[in-house]
Amino acid sequence: MSTAVTAYAAPSPKAPLERTTIERREPREHDVVIEIAFTGICHTDIHQVHEGWAEGIFPMVPGHEIAGVVAAVGPGVTRHSVGDRVGVGCFVDSCRRCEYCRAGEEQFCREGAVWTYNARDPRTDEPTYGGYSTHIVVDENYVLRIPDGLSLDEAAPLMCAGITTYAPLARWETGPGSKVAVVGLGGLGHMAVKIGHARGAEVTVLSQSTRKRDDGLRLGADHFHATADPAVFTDLADAFDLILNTVSADLDLDAYLGLLRVDGAMVNVGLPETRSALLLSTLVMKRRSLAGSNIGGIRQTQEMLDFCARHRLAADVEVIPAEQINDAYERVVASDVRYRFVVDVASLRE
Ligand code: NAP
Ligand code: ZN
Ligand code: ZN
Repeated sequence: MSTAVTAYAAPSPKAPLERTTIERREPREHDVVIEIAFTGICHTDIHQVHEGWAEGIFPMVPGHEIAGVVAAVGPGVTRHSVGDRVGVGCFVDSCRRCEYCRAGEEQFCREGAVWTYNARDPRTDEPTYGGYSTHIVVDENYVLRIPDGLSLDEAAPLMCAGITTYAPLARWETGPGSKVAVVGLGGLGHMAVKIGHARGAEVTVLSQSTRKRDDGLRLGADHFHATADPAVFTDLADAFDLILNTVSADLDLDAYLGLLRVDGAMVNVGLPETRSALLLSTLVMKRRSLAGSNIGGIRQTQEMLDFCARHRLAADVEVIPAEQINDAYERVVASDVRYRFVVDVASLRE
């Protein structure tokens, strides 16, 4: 048994997205049926539709920054009730038994987290479909509570952009006295600035140009530099404890690593489609590290949502109807997003 719902999908790799119908399963014992209100557009959606990393499953309904309201629950559900404001991020299930699942880091599940879209549900082998759709059905343990005080449109991007930047800023213990550079002021970057500032760090934005300077400072950055100016790489040499790289394309890693002080770390969350290179002496001579970070587990995602509510921060969004998704993709690719497109899913109900 399943229910047909309206969605926006890419019918084939690189094709424009279009309105379609998909099936959602009837709720199982521990399932929550969510009426989706808003879904953010993450650059990952574009990488996947374009098959920039790997082959995809088509038709593809992207969207892993989901915010909505519980419409129904299975008989065994205890964590959520009809009418609750809830969110879903990048994964909708995992094995629940491995050491990572038990540690609350389901994104690293040994059997593979079940991604919200462009994956297969291991129980049925059916493809998963994301949030560019009117409803989604998700096990209650993978559904987040959206605190009062966060609006659903501004909270949706927290499900990916929020946790992806919160997790490394927490793990590398940023706070008063730490100097953090955020590379790329897009969806992830603008959340990194807000969260880094809220944690008390001194935040510097490294953007391609000065175009977004006023925004960067308004979002909470203390300093803003355009990397088009080569002097930045000498003026800011050895300046930062942490560089958070949110850029979707490959960068000159040696140049950025040179901005780290001794023991500094460059943590990459951006996922370029091509292989990167670096000169190891840039790391060795100053005991620097190069690291990565991948979203965050359910427990930390809830912690991040509560942190954002406490600090009264959320995403800066441009809300669009589904018909504008393809134009929004072009603008994201052109680094022209301020600072997250969010699809108003009501437009799919018309
Ligand atoms: P986005 O909104 O497009 O932001 C990326 C920003 O990077 C752009 O706004 C731009 O900022 C800068 N940029 C783009 N192309 C560049 C280039 N060629 N050289 C230098 N800077 C460039 O994308 P997003 O949604 O924030 O996602 C960013 C990346 O993170 C994507 O690769 C995405 O797949 C990945 N991601 C990873 C995780 C994870 O868990 N690790 C989670 C979500 C997303 P300026 O205009 O300021 O230069
Ligand atoms: Zn994402
Ligand atoms: Zn697991």
